[in-house]
Amino acid sequence: MIIRSRIVVPMVGEPINNGAIAIVGNVIAGVGRFEDVKANHGGDVLDLGEQIVLPGLINAHCHLDYTLLRGQIPPQKSFTDWIRAINSHKAALSEEDYIASIGAGLAEVQKFGTTSLLNLEAFPELLPRISRPPLRAWWCAEMIDVRERVPVHEVSENLHNWFEAHPEWLGGFALAPHAPFTASAQLFAAAAEISRKYHVPVTTHVAESREEMQMFRDANGSLFDFLKSIGRQLDDCGSSTPFSSLTRGHAVDERWILAHLNELTEGDFDLLTRAKKFHIAHCPRSHAFFGHTPFELRRLQTLGFNICLGTDSLASNSSLSLFSEMRELLRKEPWISPREVLTMATVNGAHAIGRADSLGRISPGFCADLIAIPSAETGRSVFDAIVTFEGTIPWVMVNGDTLSLL
Ligand SMILES: [Zn+2]
Repeated sequence: MIIRSRIVVPMVGEPINNGAIAIVGNVIAGVGRFEDVKANHGGDVLDLGEQIVLPGLINAHCHLDYTLLRGQIPPQKSFTDWIRAINSHKAALSEEDYIASIGAGLAEVQKFGTTSLLNLEAFPELLPRISRPPLRAWWCAEMIDVRERVPVHEVSENLHNWFEAHPEWLGGFALAPHAPFTASAQLFAAAAEISRKYHVPVTTHVAESREEMQMFRDANGSLFDFLKSIGRQLDDCGSSTPFSSLTRGHAVDERWILAHLNELTEGDFDLLTRAKKFHIAHCPRSHAFFGHTPFELRRLQTLGFNICLGTDSLASNSSLSLFSEMRELLRKEPWISPREVLTMATVNGAHAIGRADSLGRISPGFCADLIAIPSAETGRSVFDAIVTFEGTIPWVMVNGDTLSLL
């Protein structure tokens, strides 16, 4: 088939007026001006009219488990208080609640034009009870071993086998040792080894809050006290930082997606200069919710890190819209261009999940994951029109299948 629209934004080269995309099966076969695509490709034409077609967005960090907690936890005095608050909410949730939460989250990300997402999943054993998602989802087994050992090899084997048996599920599994303050060095090392074995992404939270820095550097503060109270060994605290603690035991390479990285010392920047260039997931609105230390976007970008965007969960955000994340980032960092921010939500996200050659762009050989938004005659640039778009996406295609119609 051929999809025609007023503008096509391929994210490689410039936007194309009167553009078209040829799709064969679930793959993009050609992109260009309508007359050229029509001359080279057969099939029915779907004319989307006055729309801008762009690649589906990629959410590199979210927790669908907590979709039902929207508006339930107000900003707290400290990050540790927020952890206590979410733990008490979680204690009241049943398996059915989590299943409903994941379903509601999948529907919401789709509504806002996300076609691929990395979901940190605390209950991967619930997967068989969830309907097949209408988009690409990487289910990252989120693991905490403060109180008891996690059978990480068994969990990974089960997830691997489950995805082998369900090829109709787009995406796959991944690993997420929770954070250096809740996951042991052994758990991190095992997750790294499994990620290499299965060629899957691995992610974690690191250096998110001031209290996390205080814990590792000074061996005190509310997060230190909280973890002491639940029995964590704290002999790794007092002379490190969250980032140096993470990298002490094993290499963090290009398979890793580190979420947050707000709290970095000059010593950390020395390590980062020499480090392998992993990926960084930044969550602008969750960052604002917590009032974290400013994220050093420009400095990290200059060092060569691939920075992508995530929404985090609705326990610290108000929606799962990456359009809102792009706007918040532009508000905080007005020196970035809308085009660059859209690159973070498409191309960079694809790179982070190891799919730079098949997702995040409209290009021959790439997956047919597309969204369309109305193209208003406002005189603004096409990238301005995209990042300012609010509302529900009227047309979505994932893997060559149209999910909703105009
Ligand atoms: Zn998170």
